[in-house]
Amino acid sequence: MIIGGGSTGLMISYYLLKKGVKSVIAERKYPGSGNTYKCATGIRASFTSREHIALMKRAIELWSELKDELGVFYERSGYLWLLSREEDLRAFKTYVSFQNEHGVPTKVIDLSEVKRLAPTIVTKDLLAAVHDPLAGKASPFDLVLQSWRFLVEKGCKVLMGVEAKKILMSGGKVLGVETSAGFIESRAVVLAAAYDTVKMLKSLNISVPIEPVPKHAFITEAYRDLFKPLIIDWSTSSYVVQTHHGNFLVGSEIPEKPGDKPLSRLEFLRKASKVWTKYFPWMKEAYLLRYWTGYYDTTPDHHPIIGPLDGLEGLYVAAGFSGHGFMMSPSVGEVMADWITEGRPKILEALNLSMSRFREGRLVKEAAVFG
Ligand SMILES: Cc1cc2nc3c(=O)[nH]c(=O)nc-3n(C[C@H](O)[C@H](O)[C@H](O)COP(=O)(O)OP(=O)(O)OC[C@H]3O[C@@H](n4cnc5c(N)ncnc54)[C@H](O)[C@@H]3O)c2cc1C
Repeated sequence: MIIGGGSTGLMISYYLLKKGVKSVIAERKYPGSGNTYKCATGIRASFTSREHIALMKRAIELWSELKDELGVFYERSGYLWLLSREEDLRAFKTYVSFQNEHGVPTKVIDLSEVKRLAPTIVTKDLLAAVHDPLAGKASPFDLVLQSWRFLVEKGCKVLMGVEAKKILMSGGKVLGVETSAGFIESRAVVLAAAYDTVKMLKSLNISVPIEPVPKHAFITEAYRDLFKPLIIDWSTSSYVVQTHHGNFLVGSEIPEKPGDKPLSRLEFLRKASKVWTKYFPWMKEAYLLRYWTGYYDTTPDHHPIIGPLDGLEGLYVAAGFSGHGFMMSPSVGEVMADWITEGRPKILEALNLSMSRFREGRLVKEAAVFG
């Protein structure tokens, strides 16, 4: 049984099904209604840890398969990291070498190449950029709707409006889950409930280091195709991506304290607009259609917690994605399906992402985090 019907829960169910296991998902509201439908659609392997790169290289292979198997919109349209400070350029040169050594074909490019990739951009404040041609974007709506339809057609259950209340254990083994629709028996339970994973485990006296950090995004009306890559302004931790429908989806980091209920903030609109109208002055004319908030379920080392929980047979966690859960949902689905059916993931780097790393002080470093 899987608690949570976001991209993570659905992909775990999908890759379990590929191994012949039919699962039940309990989703409190409706699939996608958590952070999945709030995400910025970005997919990349240009990270700075072996663990993130290994998970994301596999996820990128799987995204191509999902495009063919389920008809999910996905394209390798790249990422462009804009750099305006000498120290950032120096740091990114080391990240690029590390990424290249690990099979991610990023490269430092000059401003004429930036102009080629985003013809209307104003480059006067920039020194250079890093281009990641392996990166891309996909539709969260397609992923949720198509995988949900597929799972149900093949005999899996996706229970909507069903809230998991309590995990029942006996003698260190999982028995099942008490839900708003009654008890569901299961010998394997996966918590894929983003920040609510913390609340569920609290009832078993287990504390999980995940904090909900509020994040903001807005989307404009649709334009003709103006640039393909998702563009990051590294110095302000801001991004813009043109969706496949033509809208510009914009995000930017503002000071926030962890908290369960993100509130609207004018400060976000001011900062995000200022950053992107400097690079694209024509954006001043764009109408804003919608502004929303969600959160990154964030761990102290910005890596997810994926795998079994020590000493609790049958209980698994897949949460704490720290802003990268949509992109890695296919490989996380595969890793979790391996854990459950074979007792070990094929991606060995995933072994470093269990919960025990916090207790043992084996935190994993990641520098390329933004938004
Ligand atoms: C503004 C913004 C931009 C982002 N951009 C990107 C991006 O470009 N790329 C990327 O990879 N990631 C991005 N993310 C992060 C991404 O959205 C998340 O990491 C991802 O959606 C996590 O998926 P999930 O399935 O683990 O969690 P969620 O989608 O949050 O799903 C968890 C589900 O569990 C359900 N649930 C909770 N408690 C219970 C319970 N007790 N019983 C039953 N159901 C329960 C919830 O209703 C929810 O549907 C972004 C996030 C935000 C907010």
